[in-house]
Amino acid sequence: MDFFKDRSLFIASMHGKEQAIAPLLEKELGVNCFTIEGFNTDCYGTFSGEIEREGSPLETIRKKCIAGMNLAQSELGIATEGSFGPHPFLFGVPAHEEILILIDQKNNIEITAKSLVTETNFLGREIPNVQALMEFMVEVKFPSHGIILKDKATHFLEAFKNARSNDELFAQFHACQQKYGSVYAETDMRAMYNPTRMSVIKRVCQKLIEKVKNTCPLCLTPGFDVVERIPGLPCSFCKMPTDSIVTERFACQACQHSQQKTRGDGKVFEDPMYCSVCNP
Ligand SMILES: [Zn+2]
Ligand SMILES: [Zn+2]
Repeated sequence: MDFFKDRSLFIASMHGKEQAIAPLLEKELGVNCFTIEGFNTDCYGTFSGEIEREGSPLETIRKKCIAGMNLAQSELGIATEGSFGPHPFLFGVPAHEEILILIDQKNNIEITAKSLVTETNFLGREIPNVQALMEFMVEVKFPSHGIILKDKATHFLEAFKNARSNDELFAQFHACQQKYGSVYAETDMRAMYNPTRMSVIKRVCQKLIEKVKNTCPLCLTPGFDVVERIPGLPCSFCKMPTDSIVTERFACQACQHSQQKTRGDGKVFEDPMYCSVCNP
């Protein structure tokens, strides 16, 4: 049974993300990808802070995907959403979380994939002079990666975007400084202005495709995926169960069939460092 072959897949994107993921999706799933003019993903918020984003990234992306699918009159759609900020566990390290969602309204399937990575140029700070701007440009890899200039970090009045050359950026800097007396620079995280993010999107898309290909052993519905992770991986020294994952429960969205599998990475013992008996 082939769920996706020869179907049209709408990509809810206006920042050129389709260039990164359409060839992958077409090759691996046999779909025909399309986008539409005038689909404004920015109504759900942008990274430059003009519109504050509401809800969790998963809610945001689901809303965005369904809104786009309605507009495009497509039963099959895909959307991607990036969040940037301090890493949740690593102190002082910026992180990027990208979520992809595939929604199939005909077969009532929703498949998501996400990745939290530290490979990002995400950065922002006050820029007092041209020297400071030049340092920022090197740090964030301008001009291969975009920079947005604003009069201040939040509650700003104007954002200067889309500079592709040093001259254009310097002109924006002087215009902003003259008009507002202050300049705040930040990395442009829109995919087409940020090749680092673009490559992360590609990898998460590959992960999503693997999930699509993971089908239910009973009814063959795509997206037979982990719904629960069960702790209890034994400590390699004392053999007592730790808080680390030992098995994963996979479930089907269509027939409710579920199956427990030992963790995918082949790890059978936990380091005593993470054992509450050996290292309380
Ligand atoms: Zn132990
Ligand atoms: Zn099933």
